[in-house]
Amino acid sequence: MSEREDIRSFTYDKLRERIAALSQKSFRADQVFDWLHVKKVDDFDQMTNLSKELRDKLASEYEIYEVKAVSTLKSSDGTRKYIHRLHDGNVIETVLLRYEYGNSVCISSQVGCRMGCRFCASTVDGLVRDLTAGEMAAQIYSVEADIGERVGHVVVMGSGEPLDNFDNFTDFIELITDKRGACIGARNITASTCGLVPKIRDLADRRYQITLALSLHATTDEKRKTIMPVANKYALSEIISACRYYFDTTGRRITLEYSLISGVNDGEEDIRLLAGIAKSLGAHVNLIPINPIEERQYRATSRNDAVLLKNKLEKNDINVTIRREMGRDIQASCGQLRRKYIKSQ
Ligand code: SAH
Repeated sequence: MSEREDIRSFTYDKLRERIAALSQKSFRADQVFDWLHVKKVDDFDQMTNLSKELRDKLASEYEIYEVKAVSTLKSSDGTRKYIHRLHDGNVIETVLLRYEYGNSVCISSQVGCRMGCRFCASTVDGLVRDLTAGEMAAQIYSVEADIGERVGHVVVMGSGEPLDNFDNFTDFIELITDKRGACIGARNITASTCGLVPKIRDLADRRYQITLALSLHATTDEKRKTIMPVANKYALSEIISACRYYFDTTGRRITLEYSLISGVNDGEEDIRLLAGIAKSLGAHVNLIPINPIEERQYRATSRNDAVLLKNKLEKNDINVTIRREMGRDIQASCGQLRRKYIKSQ
């Protein structure tokens, strides 16, 4: 791993401090920030309005960590799935989704994950390392360069638990929402967590206008523990009260993600309890028929049954969507593409 810090990870204020420490005028920080987050270059030598001397100085102190697309799968529905290689040789997954309202990118926040959810491929080999804020942002920039279009929506739902990489994740949010930089609207960003209670509260206190999605997946502690080890650490009652705090503090409604696993969490009682939790939080529910992974035996609830469950929730006045499956013809996601890529090398 490189000794030098990733300059692309610095928030505007931090970059200003670092540029000042090099005895440079403050407008130089604006120029460097613009090169990194508006023009989105990945080499100091491309920063042509800086003197050669300053470029060399920056290059000797810092690095722009590489995030390079080494494999791209294109679906007939416009979805693209990328394997990005990092400067230390690790690889991560990034997904582009094209909606009527624009381009959305699903980024990874860590290489691997240590949360251990039983149905998830990203966690099978545990956590390898955290991503820097710059590596999170560069996934978006790399997709923009590939399609030649702007990305206006971001979901942090790739590999990793963003709240387990809290400082880098919050720097990332500050970076990409910065009006002097990529300027992505906070309301167009959704971050998903398996429910790290103290961090949900810390995030609420930042008062960003991002949407928080909670990976609920089970409505009792007992059942949740069987599929999500993190449930041994935090009780549902604590998680729900942290989500209520998030809503009260930010005014942003919570989304509840509920991956439907046949015979595990898709019964009458599960849905009745799910309706109760959603109602108590005023939350939107996103039903996701599970994407079966090689390493585990779980099967997805059928599309028809998912629609029936959606109707039941709607009868209880719950706002609910079934996640549209995109890019089906080009591989499942949720960390499976990365595992396949690594095995093939
Ligand atoms: N660590 C975060 C974000 C990454 S996972 C979290 O837990 O929320 C993004 C979402 O995909 C989560 O809701 C996660 O539970 C879900 N997920 C993971 N593997 C899945 C699979 N095989 N099928 C369906 N959803 C899955």
